[in-house]
Amino acid sequence: MKRDKLIFNLIEKELDRQETGIELIASENFASKQVMEVAGSVLTNKYAEGLPGKRYYGGCEVIDEIETIAIDRAKQLFNASWVNVQPHAGAQANVAVFLALLQPGDKILGFDLSHGGHLTHGSPVNFSGKYFKPFFYGVDRQTGLVDYKKLEAVALKEKPKLIICGASAYSRDWDYQFIRQVADQIGALVLADISHPAGLISRGLLNDPLPYCHIVTTTTHKTLRGPRGGMIMIGQDFENTLGLKTPKGDLRMISSVLDSAVFPGTQGGPLEHIIAAKAVAFGEALSEDYMKYIIRVKQNAAMMAKAFVDLGYQIISGGTDNHLMLIDLRNKNISGKAAEVALGKAGITVNKNMVPFDDKSPFVTSGFRVGTAAITTRGLKEKHMEKIVGLIDEVIMHPEDEAHLKKVHKKVNEMMEKYPLYK
Ligand SMILES: *Cc1c(COP(=O)(O)O)cnc(C)c1O
Repeated sequence: MKRDKLIFNLIEKELDRQETGIELIASENFASKQVMEVAGSVLTNKYAEGLPGKRYYGGCEVIDEIETIAIDRAKQLFNASWVNVQPHAGAQANVAVFLALLQPGDKILGFDLSHGGHLTHGSPVNFSGKYFKPFFYGVDRQTGLVDYKKLEAVALKEKPKLIICGASAYSRDWDYQFIRQVADQIGALVLADISHPAGLISRGLLNDPLPYCHIVTTTTHKTLRGPRGGMIMIGQDFENTLGLKTPKGDLRMISSVLDSAVFPGTQGGPLEHIIAAKAVAFGEALSEDYMKYIIRVKQNAAMMAKAFVDLGYQIISGGTDNHLMLIDLRNKNISGKAAEVALGKAGITVNKNMVPFDDKSPFVTSGFRVGTAAITTRGLKEKHMEKIVGLIDEVIMHPEDEAHLKKVHKKVNEMMEKYPLYK
């Protein structure tokens, strides 16, 4: 077959972009070479609908071994009693949970998207807001912390069937125990979506939702540093205690309802090349090296937050407990969109982000979100954080000075040259 130069050249170009810039998008990371090698392997050729030992296709003996290893490693990493590693991504994991637990029109309670929540937690533009009836809690205007009183008040008033916690742009830890106690008062189930902080949770650097929340979903490509994908987990206490009524009225184990909601409920053939890459990433996440890495991610984020505060930037909630932070630019006279564009010209990649109680639209926004998972993989340490924030500040102070942006870009390239990717 003729090599597709067009696409390979573009991949080279993208590699160059990733290598030379400072990657601060909080949801991104750099998967290891072996994770990428496995994701690009012959396993992509195989159909394996079903689960290990219970497939609808022949020739799955090897695939079964691989998927079983992925499941076992995920269980070990999160101390889970049951895991499904097949969801194609985080959104698909949530779709499967909703299909398993809810009927169309059921009430759900989630964290407001504009306060840092995720589209799949009830946004009107997403299936979760179209097919279900969403209610929201958010953060307190003064503290920037989750307003647990409001969560409780809305839950007791509306009696949602499912309470969702977890976020995409919230820099503080969660009180899973409190949320569970609220849910128990109204007989609701709790879903913790730990897509962002999963890596920190897996190594004990943040509160563990698995003992409190009935179901936990995550992506595998953010702080977990695996291939792009999702998974669903259940903690030790729930697999055998929780039965769910099927529409026919039979009682079924929650794990089996979730398995059927992934396949055949919402997906066809699993991506076994990605599942194998998940297994490799989970193996890496169980290592001492990853432990050092994830501790550094958290230290770097704390240092970065301090550097921003020192330069007069407002961080929602005043700091961070995890790998990310949300910066409110309303005192800096620049929108999130303009900051994202100017920083991009200087080789610093961030994403504009709504801040709580934002008066600008989602396309403009008053803030931006940054995280340290990717730059920590590159090898950057606490001493670099202040430098990076200094460069960001130079850009934000002179967003339209193209010559100055070029100068910053040069400094960015010089910093990153010393930390090669995939060499
Ligand atoms: C990233 C994210 C998702 C979705 O993950 P995708 O892999 O992009 O589908 C879901 N929930 C939360 C909280 C996230 O941060």
